[in-house]
Amino acid sequence: MSRIELNNVVKRYGSVEVLRDINLDIQDGEFIVLVGPSGCGKSTLLRMIAGLEPISGGDFLIDGERMNDVQPRDRDIAMVFQSYALYPHMDVARNMGFSMEIRKDSVSERRTRVEAAAKTLGLSALTDRLPRALSGGQRQRVAMGRAIIRDPRAFLFDEPLSNLDAALRVEMRLEIARMHKKLGATMIYVTHDQVEALTLADRIVVLHGGDIQQVGTPLDLYERPANKFVAQFIGSPTMNMLPTADQANGFVLSNGKEIALSEGRYSCQVSELGVRPEHIDIVAPDEGDLVGVADVVERLGSDTNIYVQVDGLGSTLVRRSGNLPISSGDRLGLHLQRNNIHLFTAEGARLER
Ligand code: ADP
Ligand code: MG
Repeated sequence: MSRIELNNVVKRYGSVEVLRDINLDIQDGEFIVLVGPSGCGKSTLLRMIAGLEPISGGDFLIDGERMNDVQPRDRDIAMVFQSYALYPHMDVARNMGFSMEIRKDSVSERRTRVEAAAKTLGLSALTDRLPRALSGGQRQRVAMGRAIIRDPRAFLFDEPLSNLDAALRVEMRLEIARMHKKLGATMIYVTHDQVEALTLADRIVVLHGGDIQQVGTPLDLYERPANKFVAQFIGSPTMNMLPTADQANGFVLSNGKEIALSEGRYSCQVSELGVRPEHIDIVAPDEGDLVGVADVVERLGSDTNIYVQVDGLGSTLVRRSGNLPISSGDRLGLHLQRNNIHLFTAEGARLER
């Protein structure tokens, strides 16, 4: 398997720069997820790695070797397509071995490789079935099997689960996580779904508008987002942003409430306090940092989401585990957990506390 490096990689279409100065060092066996909103350049980056799209500037290396101008078939990289890309009239074994059939590899070589891949993927008992006689998860494994047969240096996935219903998506996500564990292969996975990113990745790369916003482990991004964009993109429901008024000492919210933090010295630079819904406690109205009225209460069984109309601040979302006896119209105090407050400048940078 292999290490992949992108050094100052750029992509232009005519005069439009869609990716700027991309620097990334992907370790052998790492599961990297590229995440970001639609149009941020995720597919373009993946396609440049696969060789399906020319690289406009910078260097792309596999194991130290510059690959910018190497033909896609000689890069030894497998793009894993969605499960419906299986040939419906071919059984599992033939679907998996088809690339070898085209290459005219010997029948015995093909059989050996297919059997080995089927064993790895737990498909040995299913090799003579047609795709329509397989579950969604099994089909995904066959699609993976086709890639494994080629013994590639890395696997690429472009939103492989986006067309599936919610239950199947969770099942497939687990399949992919298991396959990565088993194969220990370098994988680069593109998604716009931050839950997929958080659950699958060793490290996440957040892209926005053609720039890398942050690279880090799922918990790095959740606990120490580099900026407001990452803070609000990672984590669901999204982080609350509470505007602060211009004050010399302490943090005074725009509704006049003061939040005392030991970092009061930063206050002149801070324009918003960020706090995740799960980091707000509900207290008596006279004990809260903020006071408001419960607006909509969403009961998820495991959690309760409470949209609170805070006096002078507007809607703030609180998430508590379990089923809370709170009704729309209740007056609530909100306590912001001090260690979980994030400080943002007017430019959207997060200040390290
Ligand atoms: P994502 O996969 O993150 O949704 P893409 O990589 O598909 O985004 O696209 C990134 C940007 O590049 C978009 O603004 C898109 O419009 C632009 N783009 C993609 N392909 C082309 C092309 N062939 N010509 C011009 N612009 C393109
Ligand atoms: Mg895309």
